[in-house]
Amino acid sequence: MTTIAANLQAVRNRIERAAQSAGRDPSAIALIAVSKTWPAACIAEAYACGQGAFGESYAQEALGKIMQLGDLPLAWHFIGPIQSNKTRAIAGHFQWVHSVARAKIAERLNDARPAGLPPLNVCIQVNVSGEAGKSGVQPGEQLALARAIAALPRLKLRGLMAVPEPTPDTRLQRQRFALLRELKDGLGAMGLALDTLSMGMSDDLESAILEGATMVRVGTAIFGQRQKN
Ligand SMILES: *Cc1c(COP(=O)(O)O)cnc(C)c1O
Repeated sequence: MTTIAANLQAVRNRIERAAQSAGRDPSAIALIAVSKTWPAACIAEAYACGQGAFGESYAQEALGKIMQLGDLPLAWHFIGPIQSNKTRAIAGHFQWVHSVARAKIAERLNDARPAGLPPLNVCIQVNVSGEAGKSGVQPGEQLALARAIAALPRLKLRGLMAVPEPTPDTRLQRQRFALLRELKDGLGAMGLALDTLSMGMSDDLESAILEGATMVRVGTAIFGQRQKN
C-alpha cells in the first residue's frame, strides 16, 4: 500500500470510530481531502483509493490541477479566503465554496456561476474562536449573510464552516464546534434549513464529529506535512 492509501484508510477509520462513539452513522460524514500544495499526481492517487472530494485554498493553484484532472469525476471544494478577482474562476470550476464571509463576494459568485451548471453549494465561514484578523463572520452576523445568500438564485446555501484556533484541549475544541452547531440550529429555527456543518481537520476531527460535523476537511493526515510557504 502507498502512504496515501494507508493514510486515507487510517483517516476513514478515525471517522468511523468517532461516529460510533457519537452514536452517528459514519456515512453521514463526508471526507474532503485537502490537497492544497500537493500536485495532481497525489490527488489522482487518492482518487484511485476511492476518494472523490478535494479541498483547495488557492484559486490559481487549484485551477491548474482541476484542468489536469479534468477526466476524473472529482468534486472540488474551495475552502480558502476569497479575493474578488477570483470569484469567476471559483464559480466556474468548483461545486462547493465553504468560505463565504461577505455578501459582496456571495453576489459575485452568484453572478459568475455559469448557467449550465447547478447552483453553487456554499457555506458561511464563522470565526468561532474570536481570533483577530481571522476569516469568517463573527457569531451573530451569520443570519444577515444567510438571508442575503438565500436570496441569490445561483447559490445554494448548505451550511456553516469554521476553522477554530488550534488547541490540544479537546474540551475547548468541542466548545467551538458546538457553537457552530448551535448557530446552524439557530438559522434552522429562523426558517433557513441547512444540512451541512463543515468542521474538523487532521488534529481535531474527532471533536468535530462528536459535535455534529457532516464534512471534515483533512489534509496533513492524508497527504503529509505541507511545506511552509
Ligand atoms: C489546510 C486546511 C485544512 C486541512 O488542514 P490539515 O490540518 O492539514 O488537515 C482544512 N480546512 C481549511 C480551511 C484549510 O485551509
